[in-house]
Amino acid sequence: MTATLDPTALRTAVDRAMSGSAYLREKLGAAGMGPDRIGEPEDLAQLPFTTKEELRDTAPLDYAAVPAERIVRVHSSSGTTGRRTICAYTERDLADWAEMFARCYRFAGLTARDRVQIAVGYGLWTAGVGFQTAAERIGAMAVPTGPGNTEMQLEMMRELGTTALCATSSFALLIAELVDRRDLRPGLALRTVVTGSERWGEAMRARIESLLGVETFDVYGLTELWGPGTGIECGHHDGIHVWDDYYHMEIVDPETLEPLPPGAVGEIVVTTLTKEATPLIRYRTRDLSYLYPDPCPCGSRYPRIGRILGRSDDQIKVRGVAFLPMQVDTVLADLPDAGPEFQAHVHRQADGRDTLTVRVEAVDRPGLREELEHRLRARTGLRIEVDLVAPGTLPRSERKTRRVFDHREP
Ligand SMILES: [Zn+2]
Repeated sequence: MTATLDPTALRTAVDRAMSGSAYLREKLGAAGMGPDRIGEPEDLAQLPFTTKEELRDTAPLDYAAVPAERIVRVHSSSGTTGRRTICAYTERDLADWAEMFARCYRFAGLTARDRVQIAVGYGLWTAGVGFQTAAERIGAMAVPTGPGNTEMQLEMMRELGTTALCATSSFALLIAELVDRRDLRPGLALRTVVTGSERWGEAMRARIESLLGVETFDVYGLTELWGPGTGIECGHHDGIHVWDDYYHMEIVDPETLEPLPPGAVGEIVVTTLTKEATPLIRYRTRDLSYLYPDPCPCGSRYPRIGRILGRSDDQIKVRGVAFLPMQVDTVLADLPDAGPEFQAHVHRQADGRDTLTVRVEAVDRPGLREELEHRLRARTGLRIEVDLVAPGTLPRSERKTRRVFDHREP
């Protein structure tokens, strides 16, 4: 089941955006577009794209499609790649977000009986409040610990019988390793880990699941599109279901910007159908994924995308070949004595040649380095030098872990 678009919903969204926002009225008008130009799903491709830079450079209240008095809250992206992007919400936008996120929790099997520990950031950042509001909406017990402070996290888990943990994958791994080291698992009631907001692979997932004895669910989201909770895996763990009743997703070639068919990897482009305050029209997310052509065996009517493979900005070219950190992860997932943490370093040698070194945590054994080098070459088409380091020596982070270090001169 690919994403189908209802042209009436698109027409309504474009109409609402253009009548409310002077900025969008001018932009879409200049492109010769208006609600009356939308009759078929294919007309979406006539609409101009929106970029992150554009959202950053436009004053949020000029961009907004509702008057300031209808905005009840604002959030902001973390600003790791430049100035912060501000997103605004009306009361209905917040209700829609809570409903979408509650659907995510239901897909992860959570109910009113669950105790949901929310170990992600609060404040301007969308994560914490999004996870919390939805937990309350399904009637679960929300435990808003916020990120960091590992000892307090463990104490709350033990004392309150936490059944579900929401954290970044790096923080979930940090907690899992600590629980294992101190043999705390028998005193815990954890069954589920919901994680998102950074790309994480099968190797890391397998380690978190085995150390904690939990099932993990990858949740999708980005600040510009309400926040986390706009899509999640089902119990089949094969792709992420996305809520196409609230927004439409396309996959485009990041270079030509042409829409791609199901199965082809490209950049996710989103168009919101219901968002009032800061609607998005063909917003280029920079996330790389693909659409599934078939319905999910779970029977859900919601379309699926592949788990995020990386960001188009994380993709680096080494000797002309595209390299994504996720490719290392897929290799590590098949080798139990290596990973899951790694770093990729690119250097330029004096003779102008670029070299790629992957530093991997591993229990060293004869032949492991050669085997890794061989598998990485087969996977990426690049000759990669492997540097093995002792398990637990690469930095873990409570938020996002950096994996690619490009040391070449700009
Ligand atoms: Zn499914």
